[in-house]
Amino acid sequence: MHVAVIGAGIIGVTTALALAERGHAVTIFDREGVAAGASGGNAGAFAFADVIPLATPGIMKKAPAWLLDPNGPLSIPPAYALKIAPWLLAFFKASLPARYRAAVAAQGALMGHSAAALERLVATHDLEPLLRREGQLQLYEGEREFRASLPGWEERRAVGVKFDLLTRAEEIAEIQPGLSPRFTHAGFTPDWKNVTDPAMWTNRLADMAQGRGATLVRAEIGALKPSESGVKLTGTDVNRAFDKVVVAAGAHSNRLTRQLGLSLPLETERGYNVTLPEGAFDLRTHVTFAGHGFVVSRIGDGIRVGGGVELGGLDLAPRMSRADALLAKAARFLPDLRTTGGRHWMGFRPSMPDSLPVIDVAPGNSRVILAFGHGHLGLTQSAGTAEIIADLVDGVPPAIDITPFRATRF
Ligand SMILES: Cc1cc2nc3c(=O)[nH]c(=O)nc-3n(C[C@H](O)[C@H](O)[C@H](O)COP(=O)(O)OP(=O)(O)OC[C@H]3O[C@@H](n4cnc5c(N)ncnc54)[C@H](O)[C@@H]3O)c2cc1C
Repeated sequence: MHVAVIGAGIIGVTTALALAERGHAVTIFDREGVAAGASGGNAGAFAFADVIPLATPGIMKKAPAWLLDPNGPLSIPPAYALKIAPWLLAFFKASLPARYRAAVAAQGALMGHSAAALERLVATHDLEPLLRREGQLQLYEGEREFRASLPGWEERRAVGVKFDLLTRAEEIAEIQPGLSPRFTHAGFTPDWKNVTDPAMWTNRLADMAQGRGATLVRAEIGALKPSESGVKLTGTDVNRAFDKVVVAAGAHSNRLTRQLGLSLPLETERGYNVTLPEGAFDLRTHVTFAGHGFVVSRIGDGIRVGGGVELGGLDLAPRMSRADALLAKAARFLPDLRTTGGRHWMGFRPSMPDSLPVIDVAPGNSRVILAFGHGHLGLTQSAGTAEIIADLVDGVPPAIDITPFRATRF
């Protein structure tokens, strides 16, 4: 079968590799090249402990306070406030207790599958040198914030996440020295992993897919038209039919799926970061500042400080002052951090209101497969998603139930 994959981000290239390994002829299209979007500049975490969706019960009470601070963890540029309203309504519905509990269970299942799929990928392709198995430290300021986090830790336990809760400064310092004393409590998740560099990881997988016969074409796909016998793709210098097409265009996927008559609540949560050069800080694990919505991770020989959520769509210019604000906070929380010489970046997380991706055969078009909307977890869930998508292309039942990830769930 000849399969086209639209998008050479982490979801597209991992899927292309899985398809090529199953003997399919694969063509990957990307208008900018491998890892040009969110997949190239993210925090590099296989965040298997992050099973709690953003839409938690009660979040709508907390959000207004966050929104008052233009550089806080959540922001909505005024120019985008009306456009994001329908997504926010779906987000609110996803935060209702029954929907929330179902989302945690679904996320837990996809995480378990993805963690196992990652180990298969690493073992088959000798990828261990590109991984760091250093766990993650999630930090809290004081007893009150820690206590408020405990129900979330119980929910993680229920879906099989392993963790240790730390309530003594010495225990925390043993894992990560050099933290501000304001962080008095923590949760440590030992099974969390990081890539040494997400751009390098994605490029390596793209190379491996090409090594197994996949072709990478730099072209923008403008239109897809399914018929009884195939799917015709047209775009810059492209006018070709394929047996099946995988849409893995990240936050841009709706521009293609609309042509199939689908109306999916895909938005982007824009995130920012600054990558500091070698010597910026002696980081020993992935650190998450839970109450501030940002993380610090090792990337190559440097340090990446980033996070935040800006619901600003795909077209507004980046506001790099958000990245600077994160860096200023990081300097307060890691007093020895050297903040000079950093590189700023913004990326488009492809986000659904319930924090679950769309992994499905397109409704009414069995030749088009949908693989996008992974939000904060695209790298984390890439290996698991790729196996499921390859099963859907082959028409065999996937390893986990994909009902919670169906395009028709909204
Ligand atoms: C600040 C930040 C930190 C993050 N940290 C993490 C983390 O630590 N762990 C984690 O798991 N996730 C993290 N994420 C989320 C993760 O980066 C995304 O979920 C993931 O990269 C999405 O991958 P993707 O392949 O779906 O999309 P993308 O990487 O955006 O790839 C989509 C590709 O499609 C191409 N494309 C789009 N339209 C077309 C078209 N019409 N024709 C041809 N090509 C097209 C684009 O050029 C792009 O290369 C983070 C995100 C941000 C912003």
